[in-house]
Amino acid sequence: MQQIFDDIRGDFRYDHELNGCLNCGICTATCPSAQFYDYSPREIVQLLWTENVEQIYDAMQEKIWACAQCMTCAARCPFKNSPGGLVAIMREVAIKHEMQSAKDVLRPFGRVMLKLITTGNQLSPDMIQPDHFPDWGPNIQKVEGDLRILRKAIPVKTLQTVETAWEVSLKTSVEMYTIWEMTGVLKSLELMDENLFDVIEDFIDEKREDYEEWLEEQEEDDGA
Ligand code: SF4
Ligand code: SF4
Repeated sequence: MQQIFDDIRGDFRYDHELNGCLNCGICTATCPSAQFYDYSPREIVQLLWTENVEQIYDAMQEKIWACAQCMTCAARCPFKNSPGGLVAIMREVAIKHEMQSAKDVLRPFGRVMLKLITTGNQLSPDMIQPDHFPDWGPNIQKVEGDLRILRKAIPVKTLQTVETAWEVSLKTSVEMYTIWEMTGVLKSLELMDENLFDVIEDFIDEKREDYEEWLEEQEEDDGA
C-alpha cells in the first residue's frame, strides 16, 4: 500500500496537480460524475492531501474509475488543484501495480483499445448511426441529427468515414507503434490484458515487416 502511495506521490505531475486543499467542495459541486456515482473529487484530494494511505488504496478499488476526466474540477479549484489529473495518476499507478480494479474496468474496452492502438483512432462520424446503438434509445436520434450536419461540414478525404479513418499509411502506423512502445502504453496493456497485447503485438510486427519491405522496394526502384 505504501509503495502505491509513493508511486502516486513520486509522479512528476503530482506537485503540479496538488497544491493544498480548503475542503471547500467546489470541485465536487461542479463534477458531473459526483452527480451520478458514489464519487467525490474533494474526497480524493483530501485523502491524498492527508496522506491517508489505506483509504487511498480503497478509493483505487472502485471510486477513481468513476471520473470522466472532463477536468471541470481543475478549472474551478481555488487552489489550482486538478482532482481529475490526480485521478489520472492514480489510475496509471493502479495499472502499474496490476490492480484487479483496473483490469475489470478496462476489459470491456478491448475492442476500443485494439482499434485505437492499431489505427490511432476508433470512431468516425459515420459510425454513429441509430442502428448501431439501439441501447442509446431515442437519444441517438438527437445525436444523429447533429452528425448529419457535421458530416457535411467536414471536407471529403478527411477522417469522417471508417474507410478513411482506419486506413492509416504504413509509415504513420509504424511511427505510432514506436510512440506506443516508448511511452509505455504497450507495457501497460501487457500488464492489463496479455491476450489483447499478443494480438496487437502480432499486428504491429506484421506492419513493421510490410514497412521494411516497402522501404526495400523503394530503394530498389531508386537504384534501377
Ligand atoms: S480540491 Fe480545490 S475545489 Fe476541491 S475541495 Fe479542495 S480546494 Fe476545494
Ligand atoms: S475530471 Fe473527474 S473529478 Fe474532475 S470534474 Fe471531471 S469527472 Fe469530476
